Amino acid sequence: MSKTVYLEIDNCTKCPYHWTDDLLTADSFEHDIGIFCKKVTVPENETTITYSGRCPYKMVTADDWHPERYALVPDWCPLPTEISPTKE
Ligand code: SF4
Repeated sequence: MSKTVYLEIDNCTKCPYHWTDDLLTADSFEHDIGIFCKKVTVPENETTITYSGRCPYKMVTADDWHPERYALVPDWCPLPTEISPTKE
């Protein structure tokens, strides 16, 4: 059995569609962590190169230590923002 549920979130890291991956940087001693949205893909020429390969998803944010601090739900989030009236 499956059920549709609605969540109120303010950060993409709380969303089941977020994806996190390490990013390649010019300095091999540095690292960044990217947070991506699996609901939004980008064209091949706009993909981000990560340790796992080319990431086809749109990046929400990136930071070297705490990307979750900056992963506020963006304006372009494709999820509905309003809940339809429920059937009683
Ligand atoms: S942008 Fe929206 S759908 Fe994408 S990860 Fe963030 S909250 Fe989830």
